[in-house]
Amino acid sequence: MNHDESRALYDRALSVLPGGVNSSVRATRPYPFFIERGDGAHVVDADGNRYLDYVMGYGPLLYGHDMPDPVRAAVQSHAADGPMYGAPTEIEVDLAEFVARHVPSVEMIRFVNSGTEATVSAVRLARGYTGRDKIVVMQGGYHGAQESTLVEGEPGHTEPSTPGIPSSFAEHTIPVPFNDAAAIERVFEAHGDEIAAVMTEPILANTGIVLPVDGYLERLRELTAAHDSLLIFDEVITGFRVGGLQCAQGKFGVTPDVTTFGKIVGGGFPVGAIGGRSEIIEHFTPAGDVFQSGTFSGHPVTMAAGYESLKYAAENDVYEHVNRLGERLRRGIAEIAADQAPDYTVVGTDSMFKTTFTREGAVADDADVCDAGCRQRESCARYEHCPKTGADVADAETERWERIFWQEMKAQGIFLTANQFESQFVSYAHTDEDVEETLEAYKAAL
Ligand SMILES: *Cc1c(COP(=O)(O)O)cnc(C)c1O
Repeated sequence: MNHDESRALYDRALSVLPGGVNSSVRATRPYPFFIERGDGAHVVDADGNRYLDYVMGYGPLLYGHDMPDPVRAAVQSHAADGPMYGAPTEIEVDLAEFVARHVPSVEMIRFVNSGTEATVSAVRLARGYTGRDKIVVMQGGYHGAQESTLVEGEPGHTEPSTPGIPSSFAEHTIPVPFNDAAAIERVFEAHGDEIAAVMTEPILANTGIVLPVDGYLERLRELTAAHDSLLIFDEVITGFRVGGLQCAQGKFGVTPDVTTFGKIVGGGFPVGAIGGRSEIIEHFTPAGDVFQSGTFSGHPVTMAAGYESLKYAAENDVYEHVNRLGERLRRGIAEIAADQAPDYTVVGTDSMFKTTFTREGAVADDADVCDAGCRQRESCARYEHCPKTGADVADAETERWERIFWQEMKAQGIFLTANQFESQFVSYAHTDEDVEETLEAYKAAL
């Protein structure tokens, strides 16, 4: 593959964009390939190379790169009518009604412009609603680029995870290990009446993928309810992907007080949202007194793309298709790994998949193991070795993924996320033939 154009573009970009990119994960080594256009499940780069794409914009693209006809038509007509107004439009109500109809926790919703903005607003809402300051998050969880959650450490010993955040933010944030009920029980014993909210992804999807062990989400629900704290599910990545239109909360049968959305709900355009019971969401201004506002919030083109995308999913076999191919991929990769890399853990659910390069976990050929992605099943022979926390994932061979495996897959024309931590996604544009091709590539690269 020739990458001369991409290299030249990156050379230019390095002079005017920090690190040559506008979001840090895009700065792949030695330099990123620059995308010229999408084509179904594929992207074509500036040098004309074609890749089968499992990055899918890091999550928003349920349909791949070709919008279904009604989505394209709605986007074009809303853009042509005039991009935005600073006054309400019908399409915001349409999308709000749709989300409220399908997602168990949502009666009301406020649309914003990114997942980050959604989690920032959700934290402010929880603090305003409860009159408390502390929030509990998961080590290895991700809630975007926000001050209150870019915090690491153990309860009682926390610090910001990046320069630029005053340590006073970290005083109010308590990170605990995902899937460890005893750890969060201790935090609630010590600080129960100071905790505004527990905010977690229902599955660790940005460091993982790690599914909840049996009873963990239920325990979070009980603890928060018992202490009048809010349970916030950050479904920016799982929303309208895991569990279909009811989202991960419907799949797991645990209803949070507040849910944050992003990615798919905007149909490929910038979006975020905060939903929940009316009694809570109405604390946002102007209904209540927790300030929340945005020039671009509820942008008509985004709302139209989101609404038509979700409506299309409701009326077609979208989730059946992506989940079936996701299962085929996880099963196929698990078979290859059993043969070639028996320590590795295949993870994921629905249309998400990943292979975590864990360092132990080989079992006998006839052992009882999860066969299409780790489900945190206690009777699985690999249960002791599969990652349960963010730290377990970070202990894997992350350099091997980025420097060896990812490069080899790219050379075979398969575009995966360049780091070990982030998920791959199957889209409605992927086919059974694409899955076969992908498995052949895994066979060669693993
Ligand atoms: C992507 C993501 C965010 C941040 O969303 P942006 O739109 O990138 O700001 C927050 N939370 C989760 C769980 C995410 O996956």
